[in-house]
Amino acid sequence: MLGPMTWDYAPAPESRAIVELRPSYGLFIDGEFIDPLDGTSFKTVNPADEEVLAEVTAAGPRDVDRAVAAARRAQVEVWGPMSGAERAKYLFRVARILQERARELAVLESLDNGKPIRESRDIDVPLAAAYFFYYAGWADKLGYAGFGSDPPPLGVAGQVIPWNFPLLMAAWKLAPALATGNTSVLKPAETTPLSALLLAEICQQADLPPGVVNVITGAGATGEALVTHSGIDKVAFTGSTEVGKGIQRALAGTRKRLTLELGGKGANVVFDDAPLDEAVEGIVNGIFFNQGHVCCAGSRLLVQESIASEVVDRLKRRLATLRLGDPLDKNTDIGAINSAEQLDKINDLAATGEQEGAQRWAPSCTLPGRGFWFPPTVFTGVSPSYRIAREEIFGPVLSVLTFRTPEEAVMKANNVPYGLSAGIWTEKGSRILWMAGQMRAGVVWANTFNRFDPASPFGGYRESGFGREGGRHGLEAYLDV
Ligand code: NAD
Ligand code: MG
Repeated sequence: MLGPMTWDYAPAPESRAIVELRPSYGLFIDGEFIDPLDGTSFKTVNPADEEVLAEVTAAGPRDVDRAVAAARRAQVEVWGPMSGAERAKYLFRVARILQERARELAVLESLDNGKPIRESRDIDVPLAAAYFFYYAGWADKLGYAGFGSDPPPLGVAGQVIPWNFPLLMAAWKLAPALATGNTSVLKPAETTPLSALLLAEICQQADLPPGVVNVITGAGATGEALVTHSGIDKVAFTGSTEVGKGIQRALAGTRKRLTLELGGKGANVVFDDAPLDEAVEGIVNGIFFNQGHVCCAGSRLLVQESIASEVVDRLKRRLATLRLGDPLDKNTDIGAINSAEQLDKINDLAATGEQEGAQRWAPSCTLPGRGFWFPPTVFTGVSPSYRIAREEIFGPVLSVLTFRTPEEAVMKANNVPYGLSAGIWTEKGSRILWMAGQMRAGVVWANTFNRFDPASPFGGYRESGFGREGGRHGLEAYLDV
């Protein structure tokens, strides 16, 4: 669909017949899907065409009470006392069912979120299963994780997740919490509740004891009722820095433990000795993966001045071959923006880029008439003071800045309030190690970008939050150590 250099592909849509949508969904509390006590309802739409997919419950305060009570009972009576080896069996079972139902989960995720099926099928769903497998493996080995011989769980976790990787974020939250003997009340984002509800069904299918996982849908008010509930011991939040700060304020002075995984403005640094074709692929993957709805996106390209025009030329040629359109088409590279609100935010920030003096470029591209869409966009001539160089856009927009020396690259890379991710492209191992030591970023990729592995810890510095998810480190956030 994009660009003069591409030829037409025949449509290759994945069938959505594998997904059975119910007209409406209740809350998943104590092992059952139930009607709310004081909740309301809202609709979730497919952002690619604005079709209403289903009606979902917005849990009210009494529903939150009920979910927290179920999680407490399950933690004290069943899940906490259970041996790690027994808990592991359940987690392995969930992982296996995620694999067995992978196609269904991928189609549902693309429908509700707008992300290309290529990504939900090859990244989100397999990684979600991988996190369950990984933490299942730890459940009976916690005494060897470096936190004492028998580290106790915290208790009940309230977990609030965003819409950019709905199923994967649920897995990042649930797998380590459950492996360590905690139970959970999980709140998915309001625009993408469906894969978490299917995961709840998978918990039933795996015979997970009732109350170990509870899924309460709803928007910010439901999230707030959960994180401020006096019956929980731990809050794990992934989302915006603004909401994260509010949660931190609300929890100050309570005994609740908190981990925050917030926004980012990652620098992808390309030196003049980098392999340029690979670097261009890495830049594309860094910012156009998942429509740029990625907290660790490489949204700032820092390119050495001597190769800047060549890199930008190659990047533009490559972007002209990306295919934007139907998320369920297997050839689609760029799907829909997740919501009208997010599209407005991207439009507003992109407009400031032009107002402040940057040059805006996008490949020639027809956007579908319905739904929420934004073309892959590159800003050149960006100064570090511009809003598009400092603020998280959370969309398919790249800001290009240049540097002359490694010291200048480090200074510019670190010159934002965030510190989540960074990329380094160079042939020299010594430079990679030196740069990695200088970058204030929780994750530093070298000659690659946006690579995830359950064994590897992930998390931020400064306004990107605190605490680590993944790996042995990810256990600590759920243990009373
Ligand atoms: P958000 O922080 O408002 O929402 C994230 C989650 O928090 C959702 O489940 C939401 O319902 C819940 N929530 C909202 N208000 C809450 C409150 N007061 N207490 C408890 N939970 C609450 O994020 P958003 O509005 O969906 O997106 C806005 C911006 O946040 C994006 O443009 C992007 O910059 C950033 N963001 C970052 C990530 C990330 O992965 N770090 C994910 C999503 C959004
Ligand atoms: Mg939706």
